[in-house]
Formats: sequence, structure tokens, C-alpha cells
Amino acid sequence: MSRIVMKFGGTSVADLDRIRNVAARVKREVDAGNQVAVVVSAMAGTTNQLVKWCQDLSPLHDAREYDTVVATGEQVTIGLTAIALQAVGVEARSWQGWQVPIRTDNAHGKARVEEIDGTELIARMEQGQVPVVAGFQGIEPGRNRVTTLGRGGSDLSAVALAAALKADRCDIYTDVDGVYTTDPRIVPRARKLERISYEEMLELASVGAKVLQTRSVELAMKARVRVQVLSSFEDKPGSLVVDEDEIMEKPIVSGIAYSRDEAKVTLRRVPDRPGVAARVFGPLSEANVNVDMIVQNVGADGTTDMTFTVGKADLPRARDILERGKAEVGFEALLADDNVAKISVVGIGMRTHAGVASSMFGALAEKGINIQVISTSEIKVSVLVPADYTELAVRALHTVYGLDA
Ligand code: ASP
Ligand code: MG
Repeated sequence: MSRIVMKFGGTSVADLDRIRNVAARVKREVDAGNQVAVVVSAMAGTTNQLVKWCQDLSPLHDAREYDTVVATGEQVTIGLTAIALQAVGVEARSWQGWQVPIRTDNAHGKARVEEIDGTELIARMEQGQVPVVAGFQGIEPGRNRVTTLGRGGSDLSAVALAAALKADRCDIYTDVDGVYTTDPRIVPRARKLERISYEEMLELASVGAKVLQTRSVELAMKARVRVQVLSSFEDKPGSLVVDEDEIMEKPIVSGIAYSRDEAKVTLRRVPDRPGVAARVFGPLSEANVNVDMIVQNVGADGTTDMTFTVGKADLPRARDILERGKAEVGFEALLADDNVAKISVVGIGMRTHAGVASSMFGALAEKGINIQVISTSEIKVSVLVPADYTELAVRALHTVYGLDA
């Protein structure tokens, strides 16, 4: 007997037939003698609609009321899923975030989970009941108001719940059947990974592989929750996200991700003296503008060029902040380009193998792709290239690292 958290995303509960399918899957696990807690998202498209209504009424709407509105999507699906389960003879009960309770901080719209009291849910599971918990929702104890965890937050709900309930596994059912070496829409010969380490999944999730929400992977790694990503439409084993000790053969490169969500900013002829970088990046961080890749040239004539990337959506704000500080920082010109893509190769084997970056550069050179910015971490090499070359670059790298099926 195992204790399992089963999480179903928006496409898996998009209509009543799909909710019946969810109930059938849950029933199978229950019939096999497992204790099961279910987490569901809102029906596909619902949250987008709710967000849009708030925005249409007032672009600067109150975040507490936004949460009141967007949390409703999951209230519908927990009730419907509980009804569907009861209809096939499985004892089930719905739970909103506040009822569990899932306590968060007060950052409405993107709250962090602080504590989940799993006592009552565990008691129910031990009596054979299936709790159906709303993803995405929490409660902020200070003012006793409903919070939400940020878009895609029900993955985080599921992992946090699995940790609180000391579950043996957290199964994330979605519309893809696992984690692939890269996006199969770009590389049809991409392979499904049987296992991938938390560290790799985290790098892949944060550089644009959209299977799991980044924060959920962070938490899974911290709380050592075994996560399985699998399809709710097909009966196939999925991909396991686990500790790297559980992975026998450590590939040098496990996956390739790309992101078109970044923009490149170059400050020309920045004075080359102490304190300048702090003056450039301080105000950006105060305004919550995330900066990712950063390169600075060697100064020749007392000035240097500084290039970095920010999220595309943050570009107007970053530009505004930088232009306002132009006199103080003393740069000559600001150039921005949002027609770029970041391509990253990720693998824990890089820790012990040299030459990953050079084979990346070689493969891109052979295709005539110009590299604009490079950054590396212990298990990742990323390059910024012109957006038009995204597919070509991903395909070339997939082949070079021997990932093609
Ligand atoms: N329904 C929420 C969203 O669409 C949470 C989730 O599905 O993960 O962002
Ligand atoms: Mg989701």
C-alpha cells in the first residue's frame, strides 16, 4: 500500500467526460489498496477568463479581490470531481485551500505556501476517504483571506500536499506523457526521459520547458518528494523526477530547453569603475525586474559595454528605469533587442565532463548561428541567439549530444 497524491491539470478536467476519466484513474489506485489524495486545477481556460475579467474591469485591481475571483475555478472542479468519484463508488470529499488549511504568506496573486496542516486529511485517508483538494488556493492567516499561488500553482499545491501528507509519490497527470529531451514539436525524435534529477528538472523548468511549474520543482527537491509526470489520456509510464542518487547512468546532457521570453539589453560605453554595476542593477532589482544573463567586456578606453537579459514583459519597465538613471550611470546608449531566444543544454554529467560548451559552440557554428551571449552554471550552458534560429539550434544540439531517438 502506498500513499499517493494525484494531481490533474486543466486539460485533464476540461469537461465532464474528462472528469469521469479522472475518477476512473483515481478509482484504480484506490482499488489497488492505495491511500489517495487528489489535487485538481480549474477547467482549461477558466483561469484565463477569470484573470481577464479582473483586468477588463480595472488594470490595477485589488490583489485580494483578484484572488477571490481566480480561486473560484478550482472550487468548481473539486466539487465535480468529488461527485464523479462518488458516482463510481469511491468515497470522496472536496476541500478548498482554507479548509485544509493551506497557509500562505500575504503575497496575493503569487503567495508562498508556509505550512499545511495534514492531520485531518490523513485521518480521512486512513478511513478510506479520498480528499479532493483545490490546487492553486491558500489562505493568509493574518487577514484570513483567500490567496492564490501564481499561475500554474496547482503543481506547487500538489507537491506541498505530498510533502505534508508524507506521500510516497506525487503523480502529476497532464496532457503530455512525461519529460522529454526537448520539445517534441520541434524535434520529433525527442525521447521521453525515464528519470531525471531534481537539479536538471529545475534548470529545464526555469529555462522554458513548461511541463512543471518551477516553484513546484524547487519544493520537491527541498522536501524530497518523488514526482512522476504522466499522461491522463494514455496508459504509459511517465517520467520520474527524483534525487540524483537514484539515477544510475548520469548523461552528460539530459535535455535541451529554449525560451523566447527574454530580451537583450546592451548599455554602450559604461564608465569602467567601481560601483557602476550596482548602480545599473540595483534599481532594476528594486523594481522586481529579474536579470538573467550578464556579460561585461574588458574596458579599453575607460568604458565598457554591458549586456544582459530581462524578461520580455519587463523590457519597457527596465528601459524606463535605465533611461532615467542614464546621467547617473553615465552610459552612452541603450540598445534593446527582443528578437532573441535562449537555448540551454542541461545535464548533471557536466560536473565531471569537460567539452560540453565547446561542442555546443561547434554545432551552432556549423549551422552559421551567431551566439550573442553565453552563460554557464554547474550543470547548464546557455546561449542567446537570434530568435529565428531557435528551431535550427535546438535540432542541431539534440543531434550533437546524441539525444535523437
Ligand atoms: N488554474 C491555475 C492556472 O491556470 C492553476 C493551475 O492550473 O495550475 O494558473
Ligand atoms: Mg498547470
